[in-house]
Amino acid sequence: PLVLGIETSCDETGVGLVRDGVLLGDALASSMDQHARFGGVVPEIAARAHLEALPAMVRHALDRAGVAFADIDAVAVTAGPGLASAVQVGLAAGKAYALALAVPLYGVHHLAGHAAVDTLEHGPLPGRCIALIVSGGHTSLLLLGDLARDPIVHLGDTLDDAAGEAFDKVARLLGLSYPGGPAIDRVAREGDPHAIAFPRALPGTHTFSFSGLKTAVARWVERHPGPVPVADVAASFQEAVADTLSRKAVAACHEHDASTLLMVGGVAANSRVRALTAQRCAKAGIELRVPTPRLCTDNGAMIAAVGDLVIRAGLPPSPLDLAMHPTATLTHALVHP
Ligand code: ATP
Ligand code: MG
Ligand code: FE
Repeated sequence: PLVLGIETSCDETGVGLVRDGVLLGDALASSMDQHARFGGVVPEIAARAHLEALPAMVRHALDRAGVAFADIDAVAVTAGPGLASAVQVGLAAGKAYALALAVPLYGVHHLAGHAAVDTLEHGPLPGRCIALIVSGGHTSLLLLGDLARDPIVHLGDTLDDAAGEAFDKVARLLGLSYPGGPAIDRVAREGDPHAIAFPRALPGTHTFSFSGLKTAVARWVERHPGPVPVADVAASFQEAVADTLSRKAVAACHEHDASTLLMVGGVAANSRVRALTAQRCAKAGIELRVPTPRLCTDNGAMIAAVGDLVIRAGLPPSPLDLAMHPTATLTHALVHP
């Protein structure tokens, strides 16, 4: 089926067109610049930007895919989690497109989208794998079966900050630009990852905690006399995150006898997280699957990918009165009413 995917859970307006596991075309607009001076995403600004950008993004995606509105077989849209006012714009638009085109609607869980997008580049997922979702708002180690059908098992989550949130907060305290993840990734290249020994929280468990690491960086910067060696601090912080994520993910693979690790979400775009995880997986004989960096962060293709998977698995569509779920936990690929 040809699926139109719509993503508006945060500050990215994403549209993607997927047919039978193939990404035909996508388009992305971001209101990131409008939030920079506030140091974080302002929901009402993001919502207004989605409202303005969405029709043009749909048009671009159709043009890039070389298909017409009449070719669309289904609409998949993020129903949560995310910023309520932002999710609402995309969900209302998704319902309108589904109604106007007389095609079914699928309310997708945003985090299932982060995982499903990998299939567009690397083909179907194995029947069973460990997934590490590391994004701006979530950090979870999961046991995945059939992503479309099976319940998703949480092996561990973060007790406090998400990995991406830690990148954003540490970048802010180092005076780097928003969003923080890409900024830290860039400056860390000039720094020594072993300059400062920052803590690794909760070793030997599947649970994460990044608030202590963030505080440790803040304390170190406060106590350091003279100009802050920003590159060394960034590199050492990034090393602590990469070490923690990759170690726990590989341990979960061993414990659950899984031969594939799927690493997804915005932080999976980080160069050191990718390199260290690849190195440890290679050593452990684990196949590592990570989307290309531009598909790690929010986009419309990931939502279309979930729609495509659940349709091919024969799941029923969502009702047109589907509510949004700003805090939905990840238990299934679709957000249930
Ligand atoms: P969620 O998916 O949990 O709802 P989100 O949609 O805001 O949150 P994503 O789009 O997956 O999150 O990712 C954004 C996060 O990824 C931000 O915190 C950003 O700083 C981080 N990020 C993006 N690129 C990089 C990078 N190269 N290195 C580290 N972090 C990065
Ligand atoms: Mg974003
Ligand atoms: Fe996301």
